Amino acid sequence: MEGDERMSKAIEEKLYLIRYKADDKSHLIIRNQDACLNCPTKECNFFCPADVYEWDAEGNVTTVAYENCIECGTCRLACPAYNIEWVYPKGGHGITYRFG
Ligand code: SF4
Ligand code: SF4
Repeated sequence: MEGDERMSKAIEEKLYLIRYKADDKSHLIIRNQDACLNCPTKECNFFCPADVYEWDAEGNVTTVAYENCIECGTCRLACPAYNIEWVYPKGGHGITYRFG
């Protein structure tokens, strides 16, 4: 098994341990879809460990599957255009980590 594949499997297994209670309103907002259209690297499609962001080439938009967010905070810093607004989910919503 290649290293990347092994790491990906380990992450998937860990994600399975998380419990979600998604709000009906996204806590992740793309500030400006035009910036995404002109973004040459679309890095959010790669840096998010939960695959929240995906470039929709037909609609020319970045889609946001906020229900899958594990609140790691990476996208607050990693988007080169600082184009993602990130707030904590409302009280009682978001994820629960189980330790052990
Ligand atoms: S990395 Fe930032 S600017 Fe580029 S597509 Fe993703 S959200 Fe848009
Ligand atoms: S906070 Fe982490 S998991 Fe949530 S969308 Fe941003 S990069 Fe993905």
